[in-house]
Amino acid sequence: SYVITDRCVGNKDASCTEVCPVDCIHPTPDEAGFAEAEMLYIDPGECIDCDACFESCPVKAIYPKGQLPADLVHFAEINAARFAA
Ligand code: SF4
Repeated sequence: SYVITDRCVGNKDASCTEVCPVDCIHPTPDEAGFAEAEMLYIDPGECIDCDACFESCPVKAIYPKGQLPADLVHFAEINAARFAA
């Protein structure tokens, strides 16, 4: 899956949410609180690895999970935890 990192914080451009074909990018699992949310997250259980969000992000906050830089690897868990039951 793809992973959003903290480069989203302070930007939260949200163009990714418009291009995602499976609508799996959210501030919270129930979509509440977009305005208050610090950043957006990708639900790894829904992402189909289409690459659309990666291309759309103006600040390059999104990476394929396997290509996360070493200092950002922990964001894979942070995104997943957002959607854990
Ligand atoms: Fe959505 Fe595609 Fe990005 Fe996955 S890679 S979060 S399916 S836009």
